[in-house]
Amino acid sequence: MPEGDSLHRAAQRLQPLVGERLRAESPSPRAAATGVAERIDGLRLDAVEAVGKNLLLRFEGGVVVRSHLGMHGRWRLERAGAARAGRPWLVLRGREHEAVLSRGSALELVGSRPPRLGPDVLAPAFDLDAAVARLRAAPPSTAVGEALLAQRLVAGIGNLWRAEALWAAEVSPWRPLADLADDDLRRALAAARGLMRASLAGRRPPRRVYRRAGRPCPRCGTPIRSAGQGDANRTAYWCPNCQ
Ligand SMILES: [Zn+2]
Repeated sequence: MPEGDSLHRAAQRLQPLVGERLRAESPSPRAAATGVAERIDGLRLDAVEAVGKNLLLRFEGGVVVRSHLGMHGRWRLERAGAARAGRPWLVLRGREHEAVLSRGSALELVGSRPPRLGPDVLAPAFDLDAAVARLRAAPPSTAVGEALLAQRLVAGIGNLWRAEALWAAEVSPWRPLADLADDDLRRALAAARGLMRASLAGRRPPRRVYRRAGRPCPRCGTPIRSAGQGDANRTAYWCPNCQ
């Protein structure tokens, strides 16, 4: 699933269209039914930004479109008039480029920002202490691995960076929030932010535990374990010795 760093990359990719009036259409019947393309057709695109796992397109007149990529969605930038197969969710045509959204999971008009989202771990002004306080607002019995994936607490972290950040911070995904010091949470969040920023800058950090079940922990050699966690049963990866 695309995580926050992928969304920030997509936002960068679409920048050439900012400032242009765009022709919008939704070849996908499901996306056409949202009415989004009709509403924004002919409007000037003022800004594109990633907020957590969402991409927000801000148009003139305060019209904001939110797209969420789900498991398989993708934003591409193509040359205007490029041939393409399939039925994209949204095509935004500028003078020289077209932005194409394929296979998303959500496309809608929103007021200003998606509701109930925590601070974006990749935002320039990300405040570590405020994010720790936000995690503390969750029930104390919540496992930290689940809390890091809860977008209403902190936005942008997905399964891959959750696993890698908790390994880097030497914190087990299974420990309840009540059991952890603020410093532990700060370390885990700082690790997620650092790893995701490196990825965004094109220096994708090596995977230490993610999808490495049964292989030796790079720190202590103990075999990495994996198990489903939380209501969504997303697979957690951890070292049972040093985390
Ligand atoms: Zn280890």
